[in-house]
Amino acid sequence: MTYVVTEACIKCKYMDCVEVCPVDCFYEGDNMVVINPNECIDCGVCEPECPAEAILPDTESGLEKWLELNASLSATWPNITVKGATPPDADEHKGEEGKFDKYFTDQPGNS
Ligand code: SF4
Ligand code: SF4
Repeated sequence: MTYVVTEACIKCKYMDCVEVCPVDCFYEGDNMVVINPNECIDCGVCEPECPAEAILPDTESGLEKWLELNASLSATWPNITVKGATPPDADEHKGEEGKFDKYFTDQPGNS
């Protein structure tokens, strides 16, 4: 089991999660973060820290695509352990539908 970051993170990127992870297993993309499933120790500490409710345990159904994306993207994106600047329009995208199709990018982050 692992925790995974899902679509709700796209364009929000509040990054409250990255500072609480005891094993520093978050990786940064251009407009979201992901968790490395091989490094996550399933402690669950990050889940309630996310104001967008984007972090879910992979025991929930329908998360196969996101588990694969977290695994593949964390292999290429840079590690992030300190909260960076939240995008000024983050709140506008909170809870928005269809963010993967509209905004997803596999470009690495640089905060
Ligand atoms: S706190 Fe939530 S929305 Fe923000 S970067 Fe972490 S997973 Fe994404
Ligand atoms: S569940 Fe724990 S180990 Fe896994 S990403 Fe969240 S804080 Fe890190």
